[in-house]
Amino acid sequence: MPKKDYYETLGVDRDSSEEGIKRAFRHLARKHHPDVNPGDKGAEERFKKINEAFEVLKDPEKRAAYDQFGEAGLEGAGFRPHGAGEFPGFDELFRDFGFGDIFDVFSGLGGRARARRGAIQGADLKYELDITLENSFEGITTKIEVPRHERCPDCRGTGAMPGTSPKTCPECGGAGEVRTIKRMGFMHALNIGPCGRCRGTGTVIDRPCKNCSGTGLKKVTRKVEVNVPAGVDDGQYLRLAGQGEAGSNGGPPGDLYVVITLREHPVFERHDTELFCKTTIGIATAITGGSIEVPTITSTAKLKIPPGTQSHTVFRLRGQGMPELRGRGRGDQLVKVVVKIPSKASREQIGSLKELDDAGSESPSTDKGFFERLREHRK
Ligand SMILES: [Zn+2]
Ligand SMILES: [Zn+2]
Repeated sequence: MPKKDYYETLGVDRDSSEEGIKRAFRHLARKHHPDVNPGDKGAEERFKKINEAFEVLKDPEKRAAYDQFGEAGLEGAGFRPHGAGEFPGFDELFRDFGFGDIFDVFSGLGGRARARRGAIQGADLKYELDITLENSFEGITTKIEVPRHERCPDCRGTGAMPGTSPKTCPECGGAGEVRTIKRMGFMHALNIGPCGRCRGTGTVIDRPCKNCSGTGLKKVTRKVEVNVPAGVDDGQYLRLAGQGEAGSNGGPPGDLYVVITLREHPVFERHDTELFCKTTIGIATAITGGSIEVPTITSTAKLKIPPGTQSHTVFRLRGQGMPELRGRGRGDQLVKVVVKIPSKASREQIGSLKELDDAGSESPSTDKGFFERLREHRK
């Protein structure tokens, strides 16, 4: 059996944090879960591998055993990775991540539950909502246009011309099913099937409604208001109950799932509630220290550079990150400081490098580039 590298499977470093592992798993699971790739055997295989890797790496004990002894370590610890058997459902998986009611996730799209004979719940709809990082920071209320089938207003969904109503099916007497008995030698075989005349509904329409051609449904594009809470992240879902396709034969409507897609930001990279950005400083500032200005998601902040700062040092601005979803706190902003080495210097400059350094602390150079990018982005 080939050696498995769980870290490689999830695409994370060996020193990745628990959060990092969760994040990577969540991302991959969304892509490869069999529920979102119906009929794709390859996806199922990929998901099994991802799930197995996550089962191990999310558990500090198992992870330690695996780090030290590989798969043998896991068996020694009495753990056997998932084989071909069960894996968690898509919704179950996401519930584990602590999304509550509004972040309900698909449990397979399409009609389900039959409340009464022939009543079919409308299909669920999915809408991808593209938002900016700033939208996510503040939360946003927006109207989306959702094309869907609704109950025909003229016939109120019955499909019968206004003023008339559907009548009991003469074929099946309203039962919606027909029973046929076949004689087979000494035995009688009872066969129960849906009524062909009324297609199982138990009623027939003499004069169909003109507005919906007797279907009881009408296609409309409806504006639906969506309240996206602050802190929402890429790939999370909002479920708007009853905003999907209309049901038929008295069935309830389906739900509308609004899937959040977070647009890439020109300056910040987001990891859950943390924001990352990069800035450059001159050699002089790095040596003597100074104060530079860095962009934050709301405005700018001063960042103190201590004397002797090495390139690629990461500074933390507490509480300048993204808000927690339905929480009170905010994450941090991390700023990676890269020391810019001039590609050319004259003899004199080299000679006076020390003077240059001394002067540097007063007017630190910052990367103008990202302020410009940010300005353009905010336009
Ligand atoms: Zn109608
Ligand atoms: Zn019938």
